[in-house]
Amino acid sequence: MPGYELWSDAERKELMDVVESGVLMRYGFDAQRKGHWKAKELEQAICNRFGSRHAQLVSSGTAALTTAMAALGIGAGDEVIMPSFTFVASFEAVLSVGAIPVLVDVDETLTLNPGAVRNAITPKTKCVMPVHMCGSMADMDALQSICAEHGLLLLEDACQSIGASYKGKSLGTIGDAGTFSFDFVKTMTCGEGGVVLTNSEEVYTKCDAYSDHGHDHKGVDRGADLHPFLGYNFRLSELHAAVGLAQVKRVDEFLAIQKKNQTALKNILSAIPQISFRKLPDPDGDSCTFLSWFLPTEELTRAVITEMKAQGIAGGNFYWFDNNWHYIRKWDHLKNASSLHPLHDEQRKALQALASQDFSASDAVMSRCVSTSISLLWTEEQVKEKGEKMVAAINKVLASESINA
Ligand SMILES: *Cc1c(COP(=O)(O)O)cnc(C)c1O
Repeated sequence: MPGYELWSDAERKELMDVVESGVLMRYGFDAQRKGHWKAKELEQAICNRFGSRHAQLVSSGTAALTTAMAALGIGAGDEVIMPSFTFVASFEAVLSVGAIPVLVDVDETLTLNPGAVRNAITPKTKCVMPVHMCGSMADMDALQSICAEHGLLLLEDACQSIGASYKGKSLGTIGDAGTFSFDFVKTMTCGEGGVVLTNSEEVYTKCDAYSDHGHDHKGVDRGADLHPFLGYNFRLSELHAAVGLAQVKRVDEFLAIQKKNQTALKNILSAIPQISFRKLPDPDGDSCTFLSWFLPTEELTRAVITEMKAQGIAGGNFYWFDNNWHYIRKWDHLKNASSLHPLHDEQRKALQALASQDFSASDAVMSRCVSTSISLLWTEEQVKEKGEKMVAAINKVLASESINA
């Protein structure tokens, strides 16, 4: 899955340009930088590869979400509808701009259920934030028409789905804005980093200033820049950008390996009729970072994962095992509104209400789901061996269940 698996001379070479010039900052120092503008070049390369009119690099995917929300004018008291299955960054960013995360159910796409989004709309709703989890997409046609109908913003968290697409358009370029993360475990990496994608010049100009203390970047030097509004420092360094520049040129190579390995694993698992695979609103657009599938019942899924773990076979479940980062069930800090700094009343009440909200529709999906992360390093033989071991483990459980039944 992540670009770090294929670290190469290409990354080293881009880095050395920066190391040798000694200019680690993306703005200014024109005379000393020996013509190297890694962040600017990376933004252009991202626009070209993913088909976005504008791209603003920032220091992380979380910073990208925060910057995008600020640029879209999302703030105090606004409700942002987001899925119950995501990464903690989604609600961190919403809370950081003073807005209220409204969590709704996911379906077998492992992303927002459009019907659940519709039911959650109130007069305070400002934005719908699909999170394209585990390499694949939400139903963007449905979400776009809901947003159009109700005058809502659409912000795509495509942090986990770099290179995935929906009906020919890269995820992250369809809504009013979208974000990628380039943290260490993402499809392409800068070590740390992120980007806001947008086709709106106005949103882009705001992101550009907001991520650098509100600088308008129009002065003869940084000291002469004006500050049309408040900002933060979410800048990406030239060192990080240099790594990203090498990685973005290799992203199609990474995606091709993912697709090959995921397809091979899927073909092997398809031999088991009790397995159904994740629903994909556009099967051709899957970036194939994961293979996600379902068993018919929670009990069977738990037994299969227990068996797979006992045999040392990789395959995670975000419901009971493995992982406290991705699903509402494990987010006690969110449900308890455990914030170091006081939250405002509306935020605190909304978070505390999550503890008693009915997420049974999400539970019914997440408790039956198994996700395997697809490595770029697997050989053809290794994929085959993994797949066959998984099939044997699943069949063993299915056989003992039918004896017990
Ligand atoms: C990784 C990730 C982020 C945040 O990215 P960081 O760069 O780690 O801050 C946001 N959303 C999702 C879905 C992610 O997986």
